[in-house]
Amino acid sequence: MARKPTIHSDAHVLPISEILRRLHSLGYFGDKTLAQVKKIKGAELQKAIRTFQEFNGLNPTGTVGPKTAHRINRHRCGLPDFNITAPGGDPCKWPMPNISYYHEIHLPGLTNAQVAEAYDIAFSQWAEVCMVDPVRVDTHKKANIYARSGVGKKNGLDNKGGTLAWSELPCGVAENVQLDQMFDEAEDWSFNMAVAVICHELGHALGLPHLNAGNLMAPYYDPNVTKPQEGDIAEIIKLYGKRTKPYPITKDAGLQINGTLVINGRPYVLVPKT
Ligand SMILES: [Zn+2]
Repeated sequence: MARKPTIHSDAHVLPISEILRRLHSLGYFGDKTLAQVKKIKGAELQKAIRTFQEFNGLNPTGTVGPKTAHRINRHRCGLPDFNITAPGGDPCKWPMPNISYYHEIHLPGLTNAQVAEAYDIAFSQWAEVCMVDPVRVDTHKKANIYARSGVGKKNGLDNKGGTLAWSELPCGVAENVQLDQMFDEAEDWSFNMAVAVICHELGHALGLPHLNAGNLMAPYYDPNVTKPQEGDIAEIIKLYGKRTKPYPITKDAGLQINGTLVINGRPYVLVPKT
Protein backbone atom coordinates (compact mmCIF):
# COMPACT_ATOMS: atom_id res chain seq x y z
CA MET A 1 0.00 0.00 0.00
CA ALA A 2 1.30 3.44 -0.95
CA ARG A 3 2.21 5.86 1.80
CA LYS A 4 -0.23 8.69 2.30
CA PRO A 5 1.41 11.60 0.43
CA THR A 6 2.36 14.63 2.45
CA ILE A 7 4.09 17.86 1.57
CA HIS A 8 6.63 19.68 3.65
CA SER A 9 7.04 23.39 4.20
CA ASP A 10 9.28 25.32 6.56
CA ALA A 11 7.17 24.79 9.62
CA HIS A 12 4.28 22.58 8.63
CA VAL A 13 3.43 19.31 7.04
CA LEU A 14 0.23 19.40 5.03
CA PRO A 15 -1.60 16.22 4.08
CA ILE A 16 -2.84 16.01 0.48
CA SER A 17 -6.44 16.32 1.73
CA GLU A 18 -5.55 19.70 3.23
CA ILE A 19 -3.97 20.89 -0.05
CA LEU A 20 -7.14 19.88 -1.89
CA ARG A 21 -9.33 21.58 0.72
CA ARG A 22 -7.39 24.85 0.53
CA LEU A 23 -7.22 24.94 -3.28
CA HIS A 24 -10.95 24.21 -3.32
CA SER A 25 -11.70 27.09 -0.94
CA LEU A 26 -9.59 29.42 -3.10
CA GLY A 27 -11.69 28.64 -6.18
CA TYR A 28 -9.31 26.32 -8.05
CA PHE A 29 -11.90 23.62 -8.74
CA GLY A 30 -14.76 25.77 -10.03
CA ASP A 31 -18.21 24.65 -8.88
CA LYS A 32 -17.14 21.24 -7.58
CA THR A 33 -18.12 20.33 -4.04
CA LEU A 34 -15.44 19.49 -1.49
CA ALA A 35 -16.57 15.84 -1.56
CA GLN A 36 -15.98 15.74 -5.33
CA VAL A 37 -12.66 17.54 -4.97
CA LYS A 38 -11.40 15.03 -2.42
CA LYS A 39 -11.48 12.34 -5.13
CA ILE A 40 -9.42 14.38 -7.60
CA LYS A 41 -6.01 13.07 -8.60
CA GLY A 42 -3.70 12.74 -11.60
CA ALA A 43 -3.87 15.26 -14.43
CA GLU A 44 -6.75 17.25 -12.95
CA LEU A 45 -4.91 17.74 -9.65
CA GLN A 46 -1.72 18.73 -11.48
CA LYS A 47 -3.65 21.28 -13.54
CA ALA A 48 -5.10 22.93 -10.42
CA ILE A 49 -1.68 23.04 -8.74
CA ARG A 50 -0.17 24.53 -11.93
CA THR A 51 -2.86 27.24 -12.05
CA PHE A 52 -2.19 28.07 -8.39
CA GLN A 53 1.56 28.25 -9.10
CA GLU A 54 1.06 30.50 -12.13
CA PHE A 55 -1.21 32.89 -10.21
CA ASN A 56 1.37 33.07 -7.44
CA GLY A 57 4.43 33.56 -9.63
CA LEU A 58 5.88 30.12 -8.83
CA ASN A 59 7.44 27.67 -11.27
CA PRO A 60 4.37 25.83 -12.70
CA THR A 61 5.51 22.25 -12.19
CA GLY A 62 2.10 20.81 -11.28
CA THR A 63 3.58 19.16 -8.20
CA VAL A 64 3.82 20.52 -4.68
CA GLY A 65 7.42 21.15 -3.64
CA PRO A 66 8.56 23.12 -0.61
CA LYS A 67 7.97 26.57 -2.20
CA THR A 68 4.42 25.77 -3.26
CA ALA A 69 3.71 24.12 0.10
CA HIS A 70 4.98 27.19 1.89
CA ARG A 71 2.78 29.44 -0.28
CA ILE A 72 -0.32 27.32 0.25
CA ASN A 73 0.23 27.58 4.00
CA ARG A 74 1.06 31.29 4.16
CA HIS A 75 -1.24 33.70 5.98
CA ARG A 76 -3.75 35.02 3.53
CA CYS A 77 -7.26 36.24 2.88
CA GLY A 78 -9.90 33.52 2.55
CA LEU A 79 -11.40 34.89 -0.66
CA PRO A 80 -10.67 33.10 -3.94
CA ASP A 81 -7.87 34.09 -6.31
CA PHE A 82 -10.39 34.84 -9.05
CA ASN A 83 -12.48 37.91 -9.72
CA ILE A 84 -15.97 37.83 -8.36
CA THR A 85 -18.72 39.38 -10.44
CA ALA A 86 -22.33 40.15 -9.65
CA PRO A 87 -25.05 38.20 -11.42
CA GLY A 88 -26.23 40.31 -14.35
CA GLY A 89 -22.99 42.28 -14.33
CA ASP A 90 -24.11 44.84 -11.72
CA PRO A 91 -21.24 46.95 -10.44
CA CYS A 92 -19.50 45.64 -7.34
CA LYS A 93 -19.75 48.77 -5.20
CA TRP A 94 -22.03 50.64 -2.82
CA PRO A 95 -24.49 53.09 -4.40
CA MET A 96 -23.91 55.68 -1.61
CA PRO A 97 -20.81 57.25 0.01
CA ASN A 98 -21.88 56.84 3.68
CA ILE A 99 -21.07 53.26 4.58
CA SER A 100 -21.90 52.16 8.12
CA TYR A 101 -19.99 49.57 10.09
CA TYR A 102 -20.17 47.69 13.35
CA HIS A 103 -17.75 45.12 14.71
CA GLU A 104 -17.61 42.48 17.40
CA ILE A 105 -14.03 41.36 16.86
CA HIS A 106 -11.82 39.82 19.51
CA LEU A 107 -8.24 39.23 18.39
CA PRO A 108 -5.78 37.37 20.64
CA GLY A 109 -2.89 39.71 21.45
CA LEU A 110 -4.98 42.90 21.23
CA THR A 111 -7.43 44.66 23.55
CA ASN A 112 -10.89 45.45 22.21
CA ALA A 113 -9.96 49.17 22.27
CA GLN A 114 -6.92 48.42 20.09
CA VAL A 115 -9.07 46.44 17.67
CA ALA A 116 -11.54 49.35 17.47
CA GLU A 117 -8.69 51.76 16.78
CA ALA A 118 -7.23 49.43 14.15
CA TYR A 119 -10.64 49.21 12.44
CA ASP A 120 -11.07 53.00 12.39
CA ILE A 121 -7.57 53.56 11.02
CA ALA A 122 -8.06 50.85 8.40
CA PHE A 123 -11.33 52.37 7.14
CA SER A 124 -9.97 55.94 7.19
CA GLN A 125 -7.06 54.79 4.98
CA TRP A 126 -9.61 54.14 2.22
CA ALA A 127 -11.60 57.30 2.97
CA GLU A 128 -8.47 59.40 2.63
CA VAL A 129 -8.01 58.37 -1.02
CA CYS A 130 -11.57 57.98 -2.35
CA MET A 131 -15.06 59.38 -1.76
CA VAL A 132 -16.36 56.96 0.85
CA ASP A 133 -17.38 58.19 4.29
CA PRO A 134 -17.28 55.48 6.98
CA VAL A 135 -19.93 55.78 9.69
CA ARG A 136 -19.51 53.80 12.92
CA VAL A 137 -22.92 52.74 14.26
CA ASP A 138 -23.90 51.45 17.69
CA THR A 139 -25.78 48.32 16.64
CA HIS A 140 -25.19 45.69 14.00
CA LYS A 141 -28.79 46.19 12.85
CA LYS A 142 -27.87 49.51 11.22
CA ALA A 143 -24.55 48.41 9.76
CA ASN A 144 -23.70 47.88 6.09
CA ILE A 145 -20.57 46.02 7.18
CA TYR A 146 -20.93 43.66 10.14
CA ALA A 147 -17.53 42.35 11.21
CA ARG A 148 -17.11 39.47 13.62
CA SER A 149 -14.41 37.07 14.73
CA GLY A 150 -14.52 33.34 15.24
CA VAL A 151 -12.75 30.07 14.64
CA GLY A 152 -13.08 27.02 12.48
CA LYS A 153 -15.01 25.73 9.52
CA LYS A 154 -18.45 26.94 10.65
CA ASN A 155 -17.13 30.50 10.33
CA GLY A 156 -15.44 29.89 6.98
CA LEU A 157 -12.03 29.78 8.64
CA ASP A 158 -9.40 27.16 9.37
CA ASN A 159 -7.07 26.53 12.27
CA LYS A 160 -3.90 28.51 12.88
CA GLY A 161 -2.09 29.39 9.62
CA GLY A 162 -3.72 29.78 6.23
CA THR A 163 -6.85 31.93 6.29
CA LEU A 164 -6.78 35.11 8.41
CA ALA A 165 -10.10 36.66 7.44
CA TRP A 166 -12.71 37.01 4.73
CA SER A 167 -15.32 39.55 3.61
CA GLU A 168 -18.38 39.60 1.41
CA LEU A 169 -18.38 41.93 -1.60
CA PRO A 170 -21.04 44.56 -2.41
CA CYS A 171 -21.92 43.25 -5.88
CA GLY A 172 -25.28 44.68 -6.97
CA VAL A 173 -26.22 45.80 -3.44
CA ALA A 174 -28.82 48.36 -2.33
CA GLU A 175 -28.20 50.91 0.44
CA ASN A 176 -29.84 48.75 3.11
CA VAL A 177 -27.81 45.60 2.48
CA GLN A 178 -25.53 44.15 5.13
CA LEU A 179 -22.29 42.33 4.33
CA ASP A 180 -20.46 39.97 6.67
CA GLN A 181 -16.79 39.94 7.55
CA MET A 182 -14.98 37.34 9.65
CA PHE A 183 -11.58 37.46 11.37
CA ASP A 184 -9.72 34.43 12.71
CA GLU A 185 -9.37 34.16 16.49
CA ALA A 186 -6.98 31.22 16.05
CA GLU A 187 -4.13 33.52 14.94
CA ASP A 188 -1.69 35.63 16.94
CA TRP A 189 -2.39 39.25 16.04
CA SER A 190 -0.30 42.41 16.28
CA PHE A 191 -1.70 45.91 15.90
CA ASN A 192 -0.09 46.44 12.48
CA MET A 193 -1.30 43.07 11.28
CA ALA A 194 -4.85 43.97 12.39
CA VAL A 195 -4.71 47.31 10.51
CA ALA A 196 -3.38 45.60 7.37
CA VAL A 197 -5.81 42.68 7.37
CA ILE A 198 -8.85 44.81 8.29
CA CYS A 199 -7.94 47.34 5.59
CA HIS A 200 -7.62 44.49 3.07
CA GLU A 201 -11.02 43.06 4.02
CA LEU A 202 -12.56 46.54 3.87
CA GLY A 203 -11.16 46.76 0.33
CA HIS A 204 -13.31 43.72 -0.51
CA ALA A 205 -16.29 45.19 1.37
CA LEU A 206 -15.94 48.28 -0.86
CA GLY A 207 -15.86 46.10 -3.98
CA LEU A 208 -12.22 45.38 -4.81
CA PRO A 209 -11.09 41.93 -5.98
CA HIS A 210 -7.60 40.55 -5.31
CA LEU A 211 -4.78 42.44 -7.01
CA ASN A 212 -1.15 41.66 -7.80
CA ALA A 213 1.59 41.18 -5.24
CA GLY A 214 2.83 44.46 -3.79
CA ASN A 215 -0.70 45.81 -3.38
CA LEU A 216 -2.69 45.73 -0.15
CA MET A 217 -5.31 43.72 -2.07
CA ALA A 218 -2.83 40.90 -2.84
CA PRO A 219 -4.23 37.71 -1.26
CA TYR A 220 -1.22 37.07 0.99
CA TYR A 221 -0.51 39.07 4.13
CA ASP A 222 2.67 41.17 3.85
CA PRO A 223 3.71 42.86 7.12
CA ASN A 224 5.25 45.71 5.11
CA VAL A 225 1.98 46.62 3.38
CA THR A 226 -0.55 48.02 5.84
CA LYS A 227 -2.37 50.58 3.67
CA PRO A 228 -3.62 50.99 0.09
CA GLN A 229 -0.80 51.10 -2.49
CA GLU A 230 -0.71 52.68 -5.97
CA GLY A 231 -2.59 49.82 -7.65
CA ASP A 232 -5.20 49.62 -4.87
CA ILE A 233 -5.78 53.38 -5.00
CA ALA A 234 -6.20 53.36 -8.80
CA GLU A 235 -8.86 50.64 -8.52
CA ILE A 236 -10.82 52.17 -5.63
CA ILE A 237 -10.88 55.56 -7.41
CA LYS A 238 -12.50 53.83 -10.41
CA LEU A 239 -15.35 52.78 -8.09
CA TYR A 240 -15.88 55.84 -5.86
CA GLY A 241 -13.90 58.71 -7.39
CA LYS A 242 -10.80 60.45 -6.10
CA ARG A 243 -11.16 62.32 -2.81
CA THR A 244 -11.55 65.98 -3.73
CA LYS A 245 -12.61 67.50 -0.42
CA PRO A 246 -11.19 66.84 3.04
CA TYR A 247 -12.25 63.58 4.59
CA PRO A 248 -14.99 64.45 7.11
CA ILE A 249 -14.86 63.41 10.74
CA THR A 250 -16.38 59.98 11.25
CA LYS A 251 -19.97 60.61 12.31
CA ASP A 252 -19.45 59.02 15.72
CA ALA A 253 -16.01 60.48 16.31
CA GLY A 254 -15.49 58.70 19.61
CA LEU A 255 -15.42 61.99 21.50
CA GLN A 256 -13.71 61.62 24.84
CA ILE A 257 -14.20 64.19 27.58
CA ASN A 258 -10.65 63.98 28.89
CA GLY A 259 -9.33 66.47 26.38
CA THR A 260 -8.42 63.97 23.69
CA LEU A 261 -10.54 63.74 20.59
CA VAL A 262 -10.28 60.61 18.49
CA ILE A 263 -10.86 61.37 14.83
CA ASN A 264 -10.84 58.44 12.45
CA GLY A 265 -8.99 56.37 14.98
CA ARG A 266 -6.24 58.89 15.60
CA PRO A 267 -5.94 60.84 18.85
CA TYR A 268 -5.90 64.63 18.80
CA VAL A 269 -5.32 66.62 21.97
CA LEU A 270 -7.70 69.54 22.38
CA VAL A 271 -5.94 72.82 23.09
CA PRO A 272 -8.02 75.74 24.40
CA LYS A 273 -8.20 78.80 22.10
CA THR A 274 -6.17 81.71 23.41
ZN1 LIG B 1 -8.74 39.14 0.14
